[in-house]
Amino acid sequence: MADRHHVTVIGAGIVGVCAGLSLLRDGHDVTIIDRDGPGENCSFGNAGIICDTTSALPMPSPGVIREIPKMLFDRRSPITIRWSYLPSVMPWLIAFLKSSNAQTRLSNARAFYELLDGTTRAFEGLTRGTPNENLIKKRGMLGIYETDSGYEGGAQERSMLADLGAESIELGSEELRQMEPALSPSVKHASFLPGCHSTINPYKLTRGLADQFVAEGGTIDLVEVTGIHHGSGRVTELETTGGERKVDRLVVAAGAWSHRVAAMLGLKVLLDTERGYHTVFHGVDTGLTRPLIHNEAHFGLGQMDEGVRFAGTVELAGVDAAPDYRRADVIYECGRHILRDFDPSGATEVTQWMGRRPTLPDYLPALGSAPGFSNLWFDFGHQHLGLSLAARSGAIIADLVAGRDPGLDLHAFRPDRF
Ligand SMILES: Cc1cc2nc3c(=O)[nH]c(=O)nc-3n(C[C@H](O)[C@H](O)[C@H](O)COP(=O)(O)OP(=O)(O)OC[C@H]3O[C@@H](n4cnc5c(N)ncnc54)[C@H](O)[C@@H]3O)c2cc1C
Repeated sequence: MADRHHVTVIGAGIVGVCAGLSLLRDGHDVTIIDRDGPGENCSFGNAGIICDTTSALPMPSPGVIREIPKMLFDRRSPITIRWSYLPSVMPWLIAFLKSSNAQTRLSNARAFYELLDGTTRAFEGLTRGTPNENLIKKRGMLGIYETDSGYEGGAQERSMLADLGAESIELGSEELRQMEPALSPSVKHASFLPGCHSTINPYKLTRGLADQFVAEGGTIDLVEVTGIHHGSGRVTELETTGGERKVDRLVVAAGAWSHRVAAMLGLKVLLDTERGYHTVFHGVDTGLTRPLIHNEAHFGLGQMDEGVRFAGTVELAGVDAAPDYRRADVIYECGRHILRDFDPSGATEVTQWMGRRPTLPDYLPALGSAPGFSNLWFDFGHQHLGLSLAARSGAIIADLVAGRDPGLDLHAFRPDRF
């Protein structure tokens, strides 16, 4: 058990809630502050996959750089940019380009592998013996391909992952059909990733963990942080819409808004947001038993408890712009045919959603102590993998706050690396 402190966590997305629960179980008094409530932002509507080390290769790569110009001018592309946002996102894009050479990518992948190793165990630890256990399935996931050329094109990435030690089993169309009869014959190849888990509802999981946090003695304070007082290398007080709050120890887990919180402390963090979308056909049971990622069209598909969810796309448009739900339509257009008997007219309701992934240009999170402060830690920037990494990152934050060695090298994740 660590020395007992009062720890404030800004952000009640999956990342902040997991950090709060780990800190609480480590013996601290913990308050989580959120403007909107647990799980109301990016953690609401993701694809629900708790990825393992098979996601260790960061997005910036020589291959992606070659593809991007083509992608930006195609309406059905998995990446779009709002041209009015281009000047604002330029520094981030330049840093993205710098991270994309093969050598930097490999060294980042090695560091990221260590962080991803243990994602599912960390969730098992947080949910064991609670109702939240029932929200997680342990059936692996599939990375699918519809064309031979797409599958062959992924060979180098698969071999890099295998060299790192990630576990994947290659399936031909017949084995795939036996495993997932709900898929249509257009799906020709798949990598089965047995170590991944998934949730049947990411919002319920975040809310459930927040309820557990409160049941075990934590406090949730629904206010917005509008300013931060500090001096002599310590955070002292938060200004909030509900008045001032004294600070003993502070963790920033404010998702895509974390750079704004960091700016209140005079710290510059090169965080931007990759906005993603989903469409849910409520009440439709496709029979799909594990989630999948379409490795050519770059979207996720999963059977949630409420219906079938198509999720994905990257839109660079900043935190504040209004959603453009045509992006959600595109995911559905690209994906509906991979389900054999999918009948959208059977849906009781169709809903769409936009969420803001918090992403740093090299696709590694900011995880560790904040530069120049003795009572401040950062836990954000988990990009497409914030659900996956939330419990593991929270356990690391608890180690750091307690002054324990978290057992892995956090140098690659230092918040001031840009
Ligand atoms: C379409 C899509 C699919 C995805 N699929 C997956 C997947 O399958 N697996 C996976 O691992 N990840 C996935 N992700 C990514 C994942 O959803 C995110 O990385 C994760 O939800 C980020 O969690 P967070 O807690 O950092 O942010 P959020 O959930 O956005 O929470 C941040 C919180 O901080 C609060 N906040 C911010 N500023 C302040 C302030 N000043 N004062 C008070 N509160 C503040 C906000 O109100 C918010 O609730 C997906 C994302 C998208 C968009």
